[in-house]
Amino acid sequence: MTGRVEGKTALITGAASGIGLGCAYRLAEEGANVMLTDIQAAEGEAAAAYINEAGGNARFLLHDVTSEEQWQATIAATRAAFGGLQILVNNAGIGIAASIIEMSLADWQRQQAINLDGVFLGLKHGIPLMKEGGGGSIINISSVAGLKGSATLAAYCATKGGVRLLTKGVALECAANGWNIRVNSVHPGIIDTPIWTKVANPGLLADGANAIDPDELAARGAPTGRAGKPLDIANGVLFLASDESSYMTGAELVIDAGLSA
Ligand code: NDP
Repeated sequence: MTGRVEGKTALITGAASGIGLGCAYRLAEEGANVMLTDIQAAEGEAAAAYINEAGGNARFLLHDVTSEEQWQATIAATRAAFGGLQILVNNAGIGIAASIIEMSLADWQRQQAINLDGVFLGLKHGIPLMKEGGGGSIINISSVAGLKGSATLAAYCATKGGVRLLTKGVALECAANGWNIRVNSVHPGIIDTPIWTKVANPGLLADGANAIDPDELAARGAPTGRAGKPLDIANGVLFLASDESSYMTGAELVIDAGLSA
């Protein structure tokens, strides 16, 4: 029996941590060559080494998704290492929680640059390499916050709503041009990853603490009362990456334990 993405090459951004790391492990487990990229070098190198020791085929590249030059270099390195690209997971992202009347323009722009410009650049530079090889599947990680508003995360919602509609527009462009590239978005709910230690802000928790415990947030907000794991999202990404989802493009895969229902 072969893996569900056997022989395909996957590029995953933000792959040194959390959901991206889970996607890298899961795609490698099912037979994909994986190019992990992130701004966290030590963690990314360790993740690639772990996959290789387990019998997979992984590389790591230092890659800031806001840099067009680094995207060009990453795509060239992926072509050189693996000969092509069939799966692109635009996952890298940050969350900055702040009142809209207090947020600095610099924070607004930094979040837009990583969460939305980074996806644009991935599409712009990833699609040509996918086309060369006859097609592929692109998965853009949005959020439940790309489907509905949140009082403390308005600017984050703007980036994730942007990812949602960028996905649909590009899916239709790929279809109209016969490129055989599917483009879908994934909308996680509350997932237990390190992102919650970095979302600075009072207001998300009643006591105004800065570090947010996803289990506590899920206990109060998620219908099933628990936070998800990176694997919960990685399994959805695997499905969209594989040929099992070959009739899906421009779609939203919501994995949120009913948060948006
Ligand atoms: P993590 O913080 O665990 O992982 C994100 C990774 O991306 C980190 O290694 C981070 O590095 C890296 N990164 C940050 N900026 C850049 C950049 N400019 N270029 C490349 N890599 C970068 O977060 P998650 O795994 O939770 O999040 C992954 C995606 O899932 C994000 O897009 C997030 O918005 C989305 N999401 C997460 C949810 C959750 O509950 N966890 C819910 C819904 C959506 P560093 O640590 O240095 O920032």
